[in-house]
Amino acid sequence: MSNLDHIGPLPSEVIGVMAGPCSAESREQTLETALRLAQTGVRTFRAGLWKPRTHPGGFEGVGAEGLPWLSEVRERTGMRVATEVATPEHVAQCVQAGVDILWIGARTTANPFAVQAIADALTAVEHKPIVLVKNPVSPDLELWIGALQRLADAGVTRLGAVLRGFSAYGEQVYRNRPHWSIAFELKRRFPGLSVVCDPSHIAGRRGLVEDVARKAVTLRFDGLMIEVHTDPDKALSDSAQQLTPDQIAALLSDIATTEKSDSPANDTTLEDLREQIDRLDESLVEILARRMELAERIGTYKHERGISVVQPSRYQDMMRLRVDLGEQRGLSPDFMRRIFTGIHEESVRRQLDTDK
Ligand code: PEP
Ligand code: MN
Repeated sequence: MSNLDHIGPLPSEVIGVMAGPCSAESREQTLETALRLAQTGVRTFRAGLWKPRTHPGGFEGVGAEGLPWLSEVRERTGMRVATEVATPEHVAQCVQAGVDILWIGARTTANPFAVQAIADALTAVEHKPIVLVKNPVSPDLELWIGALQRLADAGVTRLGAVLRGFSAYGEQVYRNRPHWSIAFELKRRFPGLSVVCDPSHIAGRRGLVEDVARKAVTLRFDGLMIEVHTDPDKALSDSAQQLTPDQIAALLSDIATTEKSDSPANDTTLEDLREQIDRLDESLVEILARRMELAERIGTYKHERGISVVQPSRYQDMMRLRVDLGEQRGLSPDFMRRIFTGIHEESVRRQLDTDK
């Protein structure tokens, strides 16, 4: 048992919709965005001050210089303000400036030393801010839970999690894979914990943010964190994924309409199971591709040594072994024969191709 087991939900007016630029770039851009968002009913304003960039030399944020801009947003719009912290110094500066919500970014969550240092910095703070912990960059639920536990054990009681997706190698539809089932598992283990979705960092492209946001609403996430910029194409960070204030206004009103007509078809269990099936099928495709690569290598080997491609005894042994393995796992011999006949046929075709 850790203190995380006792964490309760965060108020929906605070985490329901959090929006704002990836980065606060100037006082004008910060205030203009905040004023536009306040008109659309957004109650919490997000803006990064310290930006973790993959490569050196990029825009690394305005740092503490932006703290007074956030205070001005709070005074002028009444919105709560949120920013990312990665070090004890960031925490101290934000607490002093009265920032309402701190979030720990994906790269920081992945580093237990850094998370512990942040947790230690918060221990002594009397009026602790709300803290949101984004998932780590790799799909590692325990690492995410560990970070949440460090904060809960430091006495942070207003604590939540943010699903912002997980890195994957190679070209993907989304910038970061959602792995919804990881968030469901987190919720299953800590039912009181609020879990928010960040469709912007999952999608990575403006045109996909809406789909991901809708899906998160269907899956009953406790809130959304969405990046908004007054002129996204000129944004100094994450320009491809930020929405304009008009776009988020349209999105929020669409979502509100959908929520009203919410039907039992929006079944989280079904969505979760489908997500798991999708992941397994992706693994199957990956395994099949790797198997065919091996078949081609065998083809080359046989070709170089003048060995014939099809050897009936090897085929029969292979099939018998697969059928036995399948039976041990409750898969019928007929099913196994059909699957492996198809796989073997393709494998032979690949080998013959290399044999030319
Ligand atoms: C951000 O919210 O702008 C950000 C850098 O988040 P993440 O840690 O999810 O990449
Ligand atoms: Mn961003």
